[in-house]
Amino acid sequence: MKILLATAELHPFSKTGGLADMVSALAKSLASEGHEVGVVTPLYRGIVDRFSELRRLDYEVVVPMNGTIETSAIQTLEYRKNLTVYFVDHPGYYDRAALYGEENMEYPDNPSRFVFFSKAVAHLARYFSWRPDIVHVHDWQAGLVPVLMKNQALLEAWNAPSSVLTIHNLAYQGHYSRARMFPLTNLPEEFFNPLGVEFNGGVNCLKSGIVYSDAITTVSPRYAREICTEEYGCSLDPILRGRQNILTGILNGVDYEEWNTTKNIHLHHHYTPKSLKKKALNKRELQHELGLPVDETIPMFGTVTRLVDQKGVDIILGALEEMLACNMQFVLLGSGDPEIQRAYLSLERRFPKKVCSRIGYDLALSHRIEAGIDFFLMPSRFEPCGLNQMYSLRYGTIPIVRRTGGLDDSVVDLTENLGRADGIKFSEFSMPALAKAIKKALVLFETPDLFDKMRVNAMTADFSWKRTTADYLAVYRAALGKTE
Ligand code: ADP
Repeated sequence: MKILLATAELHPFSKTGGLADMVSALAKSLASEGHEVGVVTPLYRGIVDRFSELRRLDYEVVVPMNGTIETSAIQTLEYRKNLTVYFVDHPGYYDRAALYGEENMEYPDNPSRFVFFSKAVAHLARYFSWRPDIVHVHDWQAGLVPVLMKNQALLEAWNAPSSVLTIHNLAYQGHYSRARMFPLTNLPEEFFNPLGVEFNGGVNCLKSGIVYSDAITTVSPRYAREICTEEYGCSLDPILRGRQNILTGILNGVDYEEWNTTKNIHLHHHYTPKSLKKKALNKRELQHELGLPVDETIPMFGTVTRLVDQKGVDIILGALEEMLACNMQFVLLGSGDPEIQRAYLSLERRFPKKVCSRIGYDLALSHRIEAGIDFFLMPSRFEPCGLNQMYSLRYGTIPIVRRTGGLDDSVVDLTENLGRADGIKFSEFSMPALAKAIKKALVLFETPDLFDKMRVNAMTADFSWKRTTADYLAVYRAALGKTE
């Protein structure tokens, strides 16, 4: 099959979260199975400097944007066999310090930046010599691609590829006022209606993707059910319920080429389930690096996360206030909401021997934390899939997760299956419920036989991309069937 993926983030070129990891791993996995894969993504600042092999294609995107014409070059990179990355090279839109905004403010021209991106994807799908069978778009930034292709197909009697939308997080919808967004799309007026791109009087990019795609997926089975309910539906639940027949939940896989404990440039001490003791060497190094007392008998908790409401970073603070009286350590690596950043820094100042708060984004440190700590905290309000809990499992680090979305689908609690347990789950979104889960972890830490058994279960749980890829191929085939 020929598959064109469209994403605003792609590891290792650009990343703010799990989207980048997922699309990169899906692309690699599809390519390794012999499919021809292209990925379209914006050419952000710094990529050219880091990847000198980029080549400019003899191809230009020329599209109307409201009353003007915008153009961009396309740079390509043959990333590996069967996998080509197409970078949309429009410095005016993408040569910026960040992907979506700075200092907690989104760039005011994000509507233009991502309408243009979506138009560039549709342009490639229509005019480039390599013709995809499937265009698989990810999240709101590419959400307009299916409707743009539909419009082109109507105008030019074009047999457009089938389209698939993956929702990585329903909370981000790309919703803008009609005046700001609709003229940029250059779509005919009839598309602006409640059955089309319109939502509550504005244009909603994610909703447009939901309405116009041939198939919709989200990144875990439980989240697929949750988003059809009012509680988790972020106002789009009625629309999603109407599309439930083409909505599938597929748990993300983990890219074990990147996230492993045996061939990992970020770790000084490699280990396997059989040599778990060496994990403690990583712990000691991490404690040293963070300026915490070096002592492997102190249970060490941690998290690596965007500091946003979704991730429950507020209840972590509250639960730590209660629990830090115990003998334990905690490390945070994260960035985001300035108020939450300050709160974590203040916690570190008050508990300098127990807490380390690293504000920022640091891939290498995230690996060292996963390998060094004993328990990973992920008490999300909602969690479409979540990757960190699966990374933790592979690193023999016990995840403490709230029973929601992909967290529930990927972690096994002692109460669910004694023999296969690899994590600690709690249900209620509250500080006391998380504090109670941390208490359970402290007891587990003092019960070495069970703790080791769970760590081995964790390290041998398999979330490889093989199964995930097979599920996506089934969705592609169904989508092709719909349009054939
Ligand atoms: P989300 O996509 O909602 O942010 P996920 O758990 O699916 O959550 O993916 C988060 C990804 O981003 C993981 O790979 C995680 O390690 C990474 N990440 C988040 N914050 C940081 C940070 N401050 N430093 C390094 N990596 C981070």
